Amino acid sequence: MIQDNITNVLQKIEAACKRSNRSKEEVTLIAVSKTKPFEMLMEAYHAGLREFGENKVQELCDKCEKFVPESSSAPISITQLDNSSYDSNLSPEINWHMIGHLQRNKVKYIVDKVKLIHSVDSFRLAEQIDIEAKKKGVLVDILVEINIADEESKFGVKPSAVETLIREIASLSSICVKGLMTVAPFTENAEENRTYFNKMHQLYVDINEKNIDNVSMKILSMGMTGDYEVAIEEGSTMVRVGTGIFGERNYSE
Ligand SMILES: *Cc1c(COP(=O)(O)O)cnc(C)c1O
Repeated sequence: MIQDNITNVLQKIEAACKRSNRSKEEVTLIAVSKTKPFEMLMEAYHAGLREFGENKVQELCDKCEKFVPESSSAPISITQLDNSSYDSNLSPEINWHMIGHLQRNKVKYIVDKVKLIHSVDSFRLAEQIDIEAKKKGVLVDILVEINIADEESKFGVKPSAVETLIREIASLSSICVKGLMTVAPFTENAEENRTYFNKMHQLYVDINEKNIDNVSMKILSMGMTGDYEVAIEEGSTMVRVGTGIFGERNYSE
């Protein structure tokens, strides 16, 4: 079932790329395994996925600790985070993505485990990541989270504050700003989010053109189960899909 869901999502990603004259290699699928048991995550792993997103520090650490790389599983080919470094050889390792709100006191638990932190939305948080990265001797790639629809319930910075924040973060030597992330409004009709995705892409292009030292706009993380096809049509390079791969989440348990 998970394998079928993945095939289905990948086909839709490919079709959305075709419609917008993009190559499917430009888009990385992140499997959002939050709340789901480790066994389901491993099913997706065996189907060939290597990029996994979690939104809670404890859960990310638990799953990361449980995971043992297997060298012999590559049944289908998948677009990967960095097109150049994988090619047809699928690495046995998992790349973990922190996609949820991150508290400063928990940064230390994940800073050397994650490939990318998608949810940086304050200088104070960035500073803490920089401090912990230096302690562990690592460089940390991050995205700046944008509250693109200015929703009260959402984390992220306002579009008008992004450039200033990025310029501040650029001074931190153990952090690399790789792009932008957003969680678009919840909607039954993905088309309603098209203008938000388009605004995100514009912001991404604008900031890239400023040529800020230590900042490269390479990743635009937007699009979830309900709207990833529209997000891709508007320039997303990373889609975060949970329900579409693992089924509905049950938070009542
Ligand atoms: C849960 C979550 C997702 C995945 O949501 P689905 O609608 O299940 O695909 C993506 N991004 C973030 C930040 C999330 O918290």
